[in-house]
Amino acid sequence: MRSQLLLMLLAAVGAAGRPMSKAASSRNKLLLISFDGFRWDYDQDVDTPHLDQLSVDGVKAKYITPPMLTGTAPSHFTTITGRWVEDHEVVHNLMFNTTTNLKVPFKKTLTKSEWWDNGPLPLWITAQNQGLKTASFFYPGGGVNYSGQAVDRSFVLKNGHPDDNETEWRQNIDMVMSWFSEEDFHLVTLYYGEPDNVGHAKGPDHPDRKTIIRQIDRTIGYLREAIDRHGLNDSLNVIISSDHGMTTVKKRPEVDEIIINKYLNLLKLISFEILDYGGFGILTPRPGKEQEVYDALSNAPNLTVYKKHEIPESFHLAKSKRLPPILVVADLGFNLNSRFIVYVNKGDHGFHNGEMDMKTIFRAFGPSFKSNFVSEPFDSVHIYPLMCSLLQIQPEANNGSLSVTQPMLLHGGEPTTPPTTPPTTPPTTPPTMPPTTPGGGSHRVQLSVVLLLSMLLTTLTQL
Ligand SMILES: [Zn+2]
Repeated sequence: MRSQLLLMLLAAVGAAGRPMSKAASSRNKLLLISFDGFRWDYDQDVDTPHLDQLSVDGVKAKYITPPMLTGTAPSHFTTITGRWVEDHEVVHNLMFNTTTNLKVPFKKTLTKSEWWDNGPLPLWITAQNQGLKTASFFYPGGGVNYSGQAVDRSFVLKNGHPDDNETEWRQNIDMVMSWFSEEDFHLVTLYYGEPDNVGHAKGPDHPDRKTIIRQIDRTIGYLREAIDRHGLNDSLNVIISSDHGMTTVKKRPEVDEIIINKYLNLLKLISFEILDYGGFGILTPRPGKEQEVYDALSNAPNLTVYKKHEIPESFHLAKSKRLPPILVVADLGFNLNSRFIVYVNKGDHGFHNGEMDMKTIFRAFGPSFKSNFVSEPFDSVHIYPLMCSLLQIQPEANNGSLSVTQPMLLHGGEPTTPPTTPPTTPPTTPPTMPPTTPGGGSHRVQLSVVLLLSMLLTTLTQL
């Protein structure tokens, strides 16, 4: 009996030395799809037969709450790491340096490891370290290295890439399905730039927003056909979510738009700023000027100013080393202009995550999920432990809790579900793993051996 078990365990170790708590080929696979800027109620004034059918066949949350700050990079990275923004430190869509005044646009950050790799490991790398094969299709953060390791396969969004090409959307689904069915990938994250693009350009109430939601709905219909065609109905779990909502930008003559320079002399008092970027702004006062800046902005209408160390606990931002000393959050719909109004967006996000317009969607279906199940709202940080449970892998320390999403799972989750990691406040220092060669082969093998030994010990103790 013992020797049989030993043989089984040894057979479960892949050629790459990757450990498998269950034969990797027989466990369920997971597809995470993000439709950027899909506000929680976008399907309520449009005919969406395929999304409606998903709610019958699977799980729908009433809405989910993104982390502060409600931006694309911070929020996507919270979903894929299960960590608050103050811990993963991707605090803005722009990579910046407050000393050199460097500012790198979002799409250029997508290949810059120094912006994303701050210690917390995203799900791809954790899954790979536990023997699984993963891919990122345009998902923010999937195109860089973490402790020297790359995602097994990664497509990175390039500047100028069209966001709304329905033919390409379908081709991408076909490609991802073949990765699952022909190449045995276990986890793929797939990102779409809509409806965010239309929301910014036209505003959430524009008819074109409804048009793009219909296109997304057809794409979900196509996805389900493709899952069926590839024989993945019984083995693929799918989570569909987003990073933030969208609200209509208030403009003259209805409101007085915010121009920060009216309340404080930016040139004289500020050494670094990111304003003109939607609902929140970050500022570094010149030496000794912090109180003056704070006082000036405290008197400005339609915004709230925070000193970093006084940011409310519920924002989970105060511990960030990257955030500058002053954070400004505009009231819903107001944009933060620095000196002039050059802002053309009709819709935007970045506002308080308690605002309903910032809430976003959650849908899930597949062999592990209940059907016709409506979940109460929850924070998007809890998606991470759910994904670890679905993949039957051990999560990293994280700020989520599996207990939040467990009611949506059949049988309360997979039998070998790892224990729930309680919400923690992990250290912000990076793990002390030794640097690895590109590809991280030696690191993985070391981890494999340690994990295999612990599995053997556990099994033998139970006999
Ligand atoms: Zn976004």
